[in-house]
Amino acid sequence: MKHSRTIVRCASCDGFGWFDEGGGGQAEDCDWCAGAGYVYREGGRDSVIPRSDYTALAEELEALELQRLRELGYQGVAKKPWQQRIRKDTQLGRNPYNEPEDD
Ligand SMILES: [Zn+2]
Repeated sequence: MKHSRTIVRCASCDGFGWFDEGGGGQAEDCDWCAGAGYVYREGGRDSVIPRSDYTALAEELEALELQRLRELGYQGVAKKPWQQRIRKDTQLGRNPYNEPEDD
């Protein structure tokens, strides 16, 4: 028998997936959600979403992320936390479209 399992925003990092340590560009993954920004909630308990589940959950996570960004007043396209971090290093001085997609 299966418990109903939902995906909820991480209570520790509030969906960000990491903590900015002092603004020096150093970001630490959130321990609670392993950097996903979201966790499984099942029977009142939260647990880390395994990275192997991200692909299957991509649509749901993206919808949650879009909702979160809207709450923050952000109007752009939703990016998952790990995508934002990947892009962080490619924004300045380089054309991101010249970068091969890591698929
Ligand atoms: Zn977290």
